[in-house]
Amino acid sequence: VPMSMAATVVLYPSPGIGHLISMVELGKLILTRHPSFSITIFTTTTSFNTGSTGPYLRRVSSTTPSITFHNLPLIPLDPASFPSTEAITFELLRLNTPHVRRSLLSLSTTTTIAAFVIDLFCTPALPLGSELNIPSYYFFTSGAGCLDCFLYLPTIHQNINQSFKDLNTDLYFPNLPPIPAADMPSPMLERNSTEYECFIDFFNHMPKSDGIIVNTFEALEPRALKAISDGLCVPNGVTPPVFCIGPLIASGEDRGGGGGDVEECLTWLDTQPSRSVVFLCFGSLGLFTGEQLKEIAIGLERSGQRFLWVVRAPPTQTPVLLALPDPDLGSLLPDGFLDRTKERGMVVQSWAPQVAVLQHDSVGGFVTHCGWNSALEAVCAGVPMVAWPLYAEQRLNRVLLVKEMKLALWMNESESGFVTAEEVEKRVTELMDSEEGKAVRDRVKAASEGTREAMSEGGSSRVALAKLVESWNQS
Ligand code: UDP
Repeated sequence: VPMSMAATVVLYPSPGIGHLISMVELGKLILTRHPSFSITIFTTTTSFNTGSTGPYLRRVSSTTPSITFHNLPLIPLDPASFPSTEAITFELLRLNTPHVRRSLLSLSTTTTIAAFVIDLFCTPALPLGSELNIPSYYFFTSGAGCLDCFLYLPTIHQNINQSFKDLNTDLYFPNLPPIPAADMPSPMLERNSTEYECFIDFFNHMPKSDGIIVNTFEALEPRALKAISDGLCVPNGVTPPVFCIGPLIASGEDRGGGGGDVEECLTWLDTQPSRSVVFLCFGSLGLFTGEQLKEIAIGLERSGQRFLWVVRAPPTQTPVLLALPDPDLGSLLPDGFLDRTKERGMVVQSWAPQVAVLQHDSVGGFVTHCGWNSALEAVCAGVPMVAWPLYAEQRLNRVLLVKEMKLALWMNESESGFVTAEEVEKRVTELMDSEEGKAVRDRVKAASEGTREAMSEGGSSRVALAKLVESWNQS
């Protein structure tokens, strides 16, 4: 098929709104650089909850006609027979591969596939690229520090024989601060698990791709990026080209997966003083027990700070794979809490329009679960963070955000992960009203400036994007 025919770039995200949003943004970004390309996004239908994506997909389809969603057929799997969300997701993506192959083949009869871009979890599809002669890339949806760590983990795997959860020491990665072994991604803590095995396999495959696109920008993580490009993270010293094209975040107009009255909290923010409100939100999957919710409420109340807090119903089962109902705030929060704090606080059920909230002038701090999208959204908006990781690679992100980038304060938890009301009060007050908090705020402001430079004409992220897309043109 001659290249003059409209070529398409196939993007294959893993399930989950966080992964999907950044892949869609990557698609939009490629279109800004190369409007004659079309974008085809392979989406995975799941029989378990991965955050609400339906409304989001419909909005993108109607606003960006150059993006086509291609739904892969449903592979019914029973969540009850898998130990974790990761385990079921990896199995699903493995079983997807023949369907992905068929879809790529059928697409290539009518159009040129300029490139095939996959999420880390979609590694089983990587060999299809070389089989079908399509240049294949990873889109790494976390930061460069995390990429440094992941590329180096197979080396660490060779050198130790214990589970990370039993290893009471720090691990050393090229150009990163020491990271406690227990802060490795939660599904990797147990060495004798399928999840661990899958991850090591994914990490071994990454360097075999034609390139790794990373959702970060050079000035944010220079040391990690240098380690990666100098080949310090992989055993043979050869890393494929890395393209830092970020920060890619959803626009403030996209209202995420929320139903309900998402505008209400923005209207409320309009009535609050500039930079005065702490925003608490814990990603698409973050959940707390009833006990922890009460503790947060007590801490917030004692801090006296203004707050906007997204509250979800506590988990009823682990792992959480089914959609949860809205929380019953009256019974979950301490008696009279909502009434006593109504002048300076607002509780939103289940979901808030996070990007728009962070960009609102009244928001001055963010208590986050350290999902990478959330961190980037805060950096773009210049909002300093308190880092309270919950799942996935978030504990690792906390080390990087606090110790390497110095854009967040550390939330201390007990061994079981419980955070006391005192700690919530202390950290929120420190963020909003202390010298340390101000230092973090100043650095986030500077980083926020950095995002604008990186994304402007001639900026590092624009140059990286141009290089990437131009290489597809010539192939
Ligand atoms: N998000 C949102 N409202 C919510 C919770 C999450 O808009 O109430 C968005 C958030 O802005 C981010 C994404 O969902 O873009 C979550 O991605 P992240 O990487 O932070 O965490 P994950 O959900 O993947 O753990």
